[in-house]
Amino acid sequence: MADLSIRNLSKAYGRVEALRSIDLDIRSGEFVVFVGPSGSGKSTLLRAIGGLEAVTTGSIKIDGDEVSHLDSSERELAMVFQNYALFPHMTVRQNMEFPLRMAGLDAPRMAVKVAAAADLLRIGELLDRKPSALSGGQRQRVAIGRAIVKEPKVFLFDEPLSNLDAELRVQMRVEIAKLHRNLSNTMIYVTHDQTEAMTMADRIVVLRDGEIMQIGSPHELYHAPSNRFVAGFIGSPQMNFQDCELLAAEDGSCRVRTISGGEHGLPIEVAGESPGVRLVLGLRPEHAQLEPSGDDDVCVEMVVDLVEHLGPVCNVYTQCSDGSVFVFQAPETFRAAPGDSMRVWVPARSVHLFSTRGGAFPRHVTVPQWG
Ligand code: ADP
Ligand code: MG
Repeated sequence: MADLSIRNLSKAYGRVEALRSIDLDIRSGEFVVFVGPSGSGKSTLLRAIGGLEAVTTGSIKIDGDEVSHLDSSERELAMVFQNYALFPHMTVRQNMEFPLRMAGLDAPRMAVKVAAAADLLRIGELLDRKPSALSGGQRQRVAIGRAIVKEPKVFLFDEPLSNLDAELRVQMRVEIAKLHRNLSNTMIYVTHDQTEAMTMADRIVVLRDGEIMQIGSPHELYHAPSNRFVAGFIGSPQMNFQDCELLAAEDGSCRVRTISGGEHGLPIEVAGESPGVRLVLGLRPEHAQLEPSGDDDVCVEMVVDLVEHLGPVCNVYTQCSDGSVFVFQAPETFRAAPGDSMRVWVPARSVHLFSTRGGAFPRHVTVPQWG
């Protein structure tokens, strides 16, 4: 167990700035997920923490000790990669013993640690096999086992489930979450998959172009995204965005006019913007309703393009009069044909509002609390 403190961390590859002034504190025992699109700097940040990548500027402290000048092997961390990185000529047992052998442990002590990790990961019967005789999921378990035996201060995972099929990914996701609960270790986990991030993390760090866009619990990121990027990245199907005009701003609320001409009061404080300015509404597909619920619902008029039946719900893809795409979620009983005109309503309390620069305005709503 260890805490981590990163200050003003930057990393450039020639002219490419992979990380820009990153500040981040991770508490001891926390499960933190770095999420963002490909190329956003997730792996670079993880590798900088792990000592596999020298940083250009900045500080990394583990339990208060500066480690940025230390070699990877001196940082007491363990990394698990997407490609497993197992030694093909060694058995599972030898692979798991490897870091212990490097650390100079004797055979009986290695055997105890390997047996305990194998037990935890339920790979005891695979110990004498070579990696080539294992499935992808089993190989990834061995890679995790090799990390566990090291008893590291911090576990670092870089997209460890990306090579597995969808079903196994979900299963391993649950297992890693349980592993965290059993070991209570500090874990940092990189993924491009927002569902993995939402389901596994105590806190999520959203990255874009080498910068942190928001740090928060899954609940905070979903209900109170601090900018349009995070709003669009977290949630599936993606949040819909629609232009509107600010009519009036008051303490704790505002009035807007949408592209369809409807006027709506929103429980959102729009500080520093004047009437007439263009803003962007954010409407989550799952908050749309087929019937109006109150006076301040934002109404969306559109033409149905495609209905996706998922079982419990449908995703309905539509086009608005301005040509923009609008997606909403409807109950499984929903029926509509392509070309049908229709309306949906989004309650004012569920609406998000952004400046055209992308920043979110604070919403004055009580949101349900998780766990
Ligand atoms: P992610 O893991 O989020 O997909 P990376 O951290 O791998 O992103 O990469 C961040 C940026 O740094 C990208 O623009 C990538 O092209 C660049 N980059 C990463 N590694 C290198 C390298 N060894 N040399 C040059 N550029 C690199
Ligand atoms: Mg990566």
